[in-house]
Amino acid sequence: MGITYRRVLLKLSGEALMGELSYGIDPSIVQSIAQEVAEVAAAGVQVAIVVGGGNIFRGVKGAAAGMDRATADYIGMIATVMNAMTLQDSLEQIGVPTRVQTAIAMQEVAEPYIRRRAIRHLEKGRVVIFGAGSGNPFFTTDTTAALRAAEIDANVIFKATKVDGIYDSDPHQNPDAKRFKSLTYSHVLAHDLRVMDSTAIALCKDNDIPIVVFDLSVSGNIRRAVMGESIGTIVGGFCEVS
Ligand code: UDP
Repeated sequence: MGITYRRVLLKLSGEALMGELSYGIDPSIVQSIAQEVAEVAAAGVQVAIVVGGGNIFRGVKGAAAGMDRATADYIGMIATVMNAMTLQDSLEQIGVPTRVQTAIAMQEVAEPYIRRRAIRHLEKGRVVIFGAGSGNPFFTTDTTAALRAAEIDANVIFKATKVDGIYDSDPHQNPDAKRFKSLTYSHVLAHDLRVMDSTAIALCKDNDIPIVVFDLSVSGNIRRAVMGESIGTIVGGFCEVS
């Protein structure tokens, strides 16, 4: 395997674990993600994962229903821990050593987030799953992914989604929509392209962390992304349509 990225931060939304369900976790989807992660980890790629919680609870939705926003966000962060532990279980079932680190201490079920320890785990070939977001309300797990990627000095963020990249207009509405091969951070921010929230994009821009956006449902895409194949849109260098 010709590896382009040695240390990657994979951002999985909660919805990615949901498959065709309308809520919760589809175990077969989690198993197939775990298989792909196992494959690249076996090839020597250091993999850290930030997992979202939107399949279970979103703070914004709770607040819209009348909850205190910060409380709702804490619930959202705790939801991500369930996803993190599910992913850990799937990975360990197929022999991949993992550690879950949470930004909200819950030491009976996971390690607390300790940057240097996370890096050490990665160096030892363990997959590190970051749960509980950043530990702060009013943030997202996309921003957490950018933050953790900067902290652990990841070469890239893989933003695994349900679409195969970023388009100049909605491909469902416009048959002539063009997919970008690459884009600058400034273009994404200026055009409010909803790849990740603007805080996450700004953090990546300031720290020169490229973001590869690709379709997770295509089998083998994590391996292809690790090898630097052009499978979606890369945010970082310059603008180019495919
Ligand atoms: N959240 C938070 N701070 C963080 C990360 C997440 O408060 O640093 C909360 C927020 O309420 C969010 C929820 O956790 O709605 C789940 O995360 P997110 O919506 O980012 O998950 P995803 O969309 O990736 O499934």
